[in-house]
Amino acid sequence: MRNTCLASILLVCLLAAAALAASPQDQPTGAMLLEAARLYDGAAMHRNWVVLVSGDRIAAVGPASEVISTADVRVIDLGDVTLMPGLIEGHSHLLLHPYDETPWTDQVLNESLGLRTARAVVHARDTLLAGVTTVRDLGTEGAGYADVGLKEAIERGVIPGPRMIVTTRAIVATGSYNPKGAPELGLPKGAEVADGIDELIRVTRDQIGKGADWIKVYADYRWGPGRTARPTFTQRELERIVEVAASSGRSVVAHASTAEGMRRAVLAGVRTIEHGDQGTEEIFQLMVEHGVALCPTLAAGDAILRYGGWRKGIDPEPARIASKRASFAAALRAGVSICFGGDVGVYPHGDNVRELELMVEYGMDPADALHAATLGNARILAIDDRLGAIRPGLLADLIAVQGDPSRDISALRQVRYVMKGGQVYRNEES
Ligand SMILES: [Zn+2]
Repeated sequence: MRNTCLASILLVCLLAAAALAASPQDQPTGAMLLEAARLYDGAAMHRNWVVLVSGDRIAAVGPASEVISTADVRVIDLGDVTLMPGLIEGHSHLLLHPYDETPWTDQVLNESLGLRTARAVVHARDTLLAGVTTVRDLGTEGAGYADVGLKEAIERGVIPGPRMIVTTRAIVATGSYNPKGAPELGLPKGAEVADGIDELIRVTRDQIGKGADWIKVYADYRWGPGRTARPTFTQRELERIVEVAASSGRSVVAHASTAEGMRRAVLAGVRTIEHGDQGTEEIFQLMVEHGVALCPTLAAGDAILRYGGWRKGIDPEPARIASKRASFAAALRAGVSICFGGDVGVYPHGDNVRELELMVEYGMDPADALHAATLGNARILAIDDRLGAIRPGLLADLIAVQGDPSRDISALRQVRYVMKGGQVYRNEES
């Protein structure tokens, strides 16, 4: 019964998505003037402002009386909604699907590249239609360089999807990463194994050559006694990766949940740290000093515990959640720049807002969470010269949501309109 329901819901969703996902040639050309009751520009909320879009760019923004438009401009009144920049997801895995559908290990070992890529095409569309117009995709987890092709397909207009910043395979130390299985088998891993200065230099350069926009490295992993998280790469190894990436104009992102893994990554010069569960006040202070942002991935931990049987709101809060709340609060107190990045893929693509809801539940102001999801992430990802705000000259990645997300972050679930690069992909008014 459940499967039948799911199947029929999926079919309806696919049909609806197909209808919503207009292809570029269906789009009218010429300038558009978007009107909405509220406009969030990435920094502040305004009333009765309008945006003039010309081609793929924002031409003007401001109070309706001040933005000059000509007679041939199409006026689109979006009504009682909040018009805002498209959301920027800082930590996605478009090549993964929720672990309660298929455990991670089975996805890596048993699902073909074709199947995984086909799923990713659907994930990309679901992500865009949920108002997420850019993702930093942090590793294909065994699906090779499929993220590079997916990104290209989106850029060429072959399929609808968000702008992608890709990291290809990610780098892990020998012996640390999964799947493990029997020691004799030598199973393929969910990331590229490399060790030592020379090999790490070669692999970093190889991933860059194959299309990585950022380099992702696992500074620690659950390979300690009793599968506890422990550091993997040495300080010098991490420094070389950052040096090689920087030489090509790229940044490094580190998976790290231990205090020591985080410390090494920060001192090596990475730009963001993912997870950060065991971060201490001292480490968070170090991150502030070095300008390193934290992607807390609250939603991933929450989802995995729920898959394990935790009934949120009914059962007592697991220790892992309590300690995550505490470390997130410590990061906020220290003033660490918080990235919106939930590890989506562990839970359904298109449900990205889950992370923002948990950020607020764990103590962040909704207005700060909204900023993190737009201009905050644009700055962290160094794309704020093109994206993340409603400003003349930036790319016209705009969404409209019902309600006021600066007061109620869940309003971001009520997406009514999605434009990416001046192309409309969702318009519930039409
Ligand atoms: Zn991840």
